[in-house]
Amino acid sequence: MTPIEPLTYQEYRPRKIVNVHKHVDGPWFWGKYSAHPYVGCRSGCAFCYCRGGRYLGRRDPATFNSLIQVKVNAVELLRQELAKLPRDIIACGDWQHPAECKYLLSRKMLDVVHEFKFPLFVVERSPLLARDLDLLVEIDRQSWVGVAYSISTLNPALKRAFEPHSPSPKQRLQTMERLAAKGIQVGTALMPILPCVGDSETHLEEVVRATREHGGSFVMAGGLTMDGLQAQTTLEAARRLEPALEARWRGLYDWAEGGKPSYSPAPDYAARIGLLVRELCERHGLADRLPRYVLPDHLADNKRIAEKLFLQTYELELQQARSYRVWAYRKAAWTVDELDRSIGTLYRERGEAGLRELPHVGQKLAARIAGWLEEEKLLPPTGS
Ligand code: SF4
Repeated sequence: MTPIEPLTYQEYRPRKIVNVHKHVDGPWFWGKYSAHPYVGCRSGCAFCYCRGGRYLGRRDPATFNSLIQVKVNAVELLRQELAKLPRDIIACGDWQHPAECKYLLSRKMLDVVHEFKFPLFVVERSPLLARDLDLLVEIDRQSWVGVAYSISTLNPALKRAFEPHSPSPKQRLQTMERLAAKGIQVGTALMPILPCVGDSETHLEEVVRATREHGGSFVMAGGLTMDGLQAQTTLEAARRLEPALEARWRGLYDWAEGGKPSYSPAPDYAARIGLLVRELCERHGLADRLPRYVLPDHLADNKRIAEKLFLQTYELELQQARSYRVWAYRKAAWTVDELDRSIGTLYRERGEAGLRELPHVGQKLAARIAGWLEEEKLLPPTGS
């Protein structure tokens, strides 16, 4: 195991904690907001995308696992900011060890999420989340909690090579089981799938089967992304494990020596893996997407229709459709998701002509949306 440098904490007081995303991240975790109390992570997994420049800003990425920056005012900021935001899903907290044991900021942030009745999504590798099961149950009772445990592999040699200091997959699965037993919607973020070594049917099925055996209801597949220093650390880990991997990974990411890799693996590779994980999920009775939680308000129908449009973008990616088709559905999904009046009422009053006037909704998509509204009986009663 690679030695780990001494740990330093740096406390600071940022001016803001909640990131308000321009669009929800459908058809993935459906979050509109995110708020996290720490920057850096002691586990220091080689493939961690948080090492990339887009997450660390101007901070030296080499300090990712030795310097944990702590937003000591995270709780008060969250309270101030949630008070002014419309309710929607927030991805919140970070149960990393040992920072969360020392500061308890994630637990205190859950109190605020509960106070303001926001639905919550958590993606984690840490079993420490189970410490806060009481609060998760309360939030779930009040609105909704979704949890995805990140698992790249159950293979011990791959775990040692790419994430030697992260909590064991066994502990993650045990925590999944505890959450599922309390009725919380939980599953696996099968991410990042390690190309050429961790992407065989046997490897992937092991994770899907374990998820089912531990009460999970979905497995979402995600490829390995490559960005800045993270790309280097991941390639080095691959080389140490198996020198021949370097050339194969370079090919997959179109990465010449001295050049930059593409951010994601080639689309045909991503589609093949996505279809394989779907087939495995079907074999084991799981979903390959996280079903969307929708707040029961006057715009609920818009969110349902937007969910269908977002899911269609994923279908098209799996079919390796031309990117203009994927973008057509994505832009229409954003339009419907962000519409401030009921799409059902619009259709009832104006028919498909009314739908066609929405930005990015042409004739074909208007007909599709009308079909869904009729089929799913999403039309509000006359006069509503
Ligand atoms: S545990 Fe998660 S956040 Fe921490 S280094 Fe690993 S992948 Fe990154």
